[in-house]
Amino acid sequence: MSVETKTTCPYCGVGCGVVAAVADTGTVTVKGDPDHPANFGRLCSKGSALTETIDLDGRVLYPEISGQRDDWERALDLVAQRFSQAIVEHGPDSVAFYVSGQLLTEDYYVANKLMKGFIGSANIDTNSRLCMASSVAGHRRAFGADTVPGTYEDLELADLVILTGSNLAWCHPVLYQRLAAAKAERPEMKIVVIDPRRTMTCDIADLHLAIKPDGDVALFMGLLAHLAGTGAVDAVYVAAHTKGFDEAVAAAAGLSEPELTMRTGLPAQELQRFFRLFEQTPKTVTCFSQGVNQSSSGTDKVNAIINCHLATGRIGRPGMGPFSLTGQPNAMGGREVGGLANMLAAHMAIENENDRERVQRFWTSPTMAAKPGLKAVDMFKAVADGRIKALWIMATNPVVSMPDADFVEAAIRDCTFVVVSDVLRHTDTTRHAHVLLPSLGWGEKDGTVTNSERRISRQRGFLPPPGEARADWWQMSEVARRMGFDGFNYASPAEIFAEHAALSAFENNGRSDFDIGAYGDIDDNAYNRLAPFQWPQPVGAVRHTSRFFAEGGFYHPDSKARFIAIEVPATTARTDARYPLTLNTGRIRDHWHTMTRTGKSARLSSHIAEPFAEFHPRDATELGLSAADLVELESPSGTVITRVLISERQASGSVFVPMHWNDQFAAKARIDALVPPLTDPVSGQPAAKNVAIAARRF
Ligand code: SF4
Repeated sequence: MSVETKTTCPYCGVGCGVVAAVADTGTVTVKGDPDHPANFGRLCSKGSALTETIDLDGRVLYPEISGQRDDWERALDLVAQRFSQAIVEHGPDSVAFYVSGQLLTEDYYVANKLMKGFIGSANIDTNSRLCMASSVAGHRRAFGADTVPGTYEDLELADLVILTGSNLAWCHPVLYQRLAAAKAERPEMKIVVIDPRRTMTCDIADLHLAIKPDGDVALFMGLLAHLAGTGAVDAVYVAAHTKGFDEAVAAAAGLSEPELTMRTGLPAQELQRFFRLFEQTPKTVTCFSQGVNQSSSGTDKVNAIINCHLATGRIGRPGMGPFSLTGQPNAMGGREVGGLANMLAAHMAIENENDRERVQRFWTSPTMAAKPGLKAVDMFKAVADGRIKALWIMATNPVVSMPDADFVEAAIRDCTFVVVSDVLRHTDTTRHAHVLLPSLGWGEKDGTVTNSERRISRQRGFLPPPGEARADWWQMSEVARRMGFDGFNYASPAEIFAEHAALSAFENNGRSDFDIGAYGDIDDNAYNRLAPFQWPQPVGAVRHTSRFFAEGGFYHPDSKARFIAIEVPATTARTDARYPLTLNTGRIRDHWHTMTRTGKSARLSSHIAEPFAEFHPRDATELGLSAADLVELESPSGTVITRVLISERQASGSVFVPMHWNDQFAAKARIDALVPPLTDPVSGQPAAKNVAIAARRF
């Protein structure tokens, strides 16, 4: 006999449904949920190995103060007292939360409410800043809201799927499987991969454009100019539903052909082949992920892509649209509750006074953050220079994952008061915690997550809480109460979800993209039964809207989308004589983030056992490197040591290193120690794909 629970995979933004079965013996098995619309029963290697990551080895099971076991009362009292003291002595902006796309929406909601509505600061940012911030900014500029217009099904329905800055095969494997199956069924479907590396995703591509790092803005500007010049524009759609077309085309047309070739690194014939393919294929989906977002021009890249879809009216229709692929399991849910420092709850704008007043009325809160808070890179600078006196880090490991990781570690180490909520006792970040709070892990916690296609699914606990571990929302609610705030008496995540849903519909007069008001009075039983659904789901909705904008209806006040007239960056080259190589960081197939979970699985670790730096054979020869040598990589920010891998997949002049390994698994392997704190000027997202480095045999 076994008891089955339907839940959701905690890794990537595909958001696959999982059926977890606990046998009488306590043995847990998992399989893909055949009824979940994201995966229809499929799981990738990481999802299939979930049971190998749920043991209690290495877990933090009790609250700790200064490295010693303590109890919840004293730990929570201390957190509340130190945060309150900092606020009284230095103001609300002297405290900060750094949270995570690993949090469930209910945790995220409480964190955002506490910081923005009760502490009165917007100093809450998230590791989603490293992941999706440029997509958020691009969506808001073009659509007036952070809305993904399409669905996964569109990838299967399209005649042309463009994957730019996305190694879908390794980073969103089940979506890749769906695309590969569609291509096998309809071989005439075309797939274009735009990536400096010849990744595994290229195995199903009809065309691989080995673009120069950060050449995407120029590429999609060139495409817009081509579409305008060949009469491929949908003039009716553009006139009825958009603004700024002429200015965007004029800016794009300013790029000469030689300049386009120089900036993209692509020969004219390849450019023309790509342009004609797009021009002649109405059913086109353009997917983009971290290769687009993690750039100093990430927001412009997103808008350059969206411009081409708006120009052709290819948006919100079956098999058509720009499609942002989120990295994390709940990056989207965090965006819905306003988990970023420059957002408010329910996709409202913190810069908008009416929105701020509306949220404050709903929360009946004593104060409201009046301006955007510090984005991640600036937040850790403020920690370093002492402006932040108290910092709470939840479900993330910034000592490994933030750019300029050595600087960030020093900042956290020297901060006067650091709270870390985590499931693991020993991470690179927990070692600097003054107070360490034990959180529930996947398999133990209850809540919701939202995947890349706006689908909200339940994560359900099927294991008992170990030791004294408690949910993150409970920890924050207890601290809020101790700080003297009303409005945090939640008895269950269902209550939080109902409040979140009610806020999404509160006084919005039908003008919010994110409206799940239909769930505003959901109770525990209905919440437990909640089946995956896509937003929006307003009160009285008979069925959800699975696509947006086919007939306009954008979220700017005049309901029109905005073309963005993009200025091509002066230069995207970062290398020089001292640092002549370009570092590109990313994921591998079988590890997740900083390996705190997947590192437990021998099976997953056997795919690629060590950190590596991947060189083109020509560069390896010039540097005197052989396969499996140790190599030291250096940038102005730091050094790492790793193993050499030589491969034709790598473009000459660039080096790929996975982002996962950290000092727990290999000495000097934190690749983000090399990444400078350079950010996109609009989104604040760090640029992790185009870093100038030097390499030498170690
Ligand atoms: Fe989990 Fe993503 Fe794999 Fe699906 S594709 S099983 S969500 S890691």
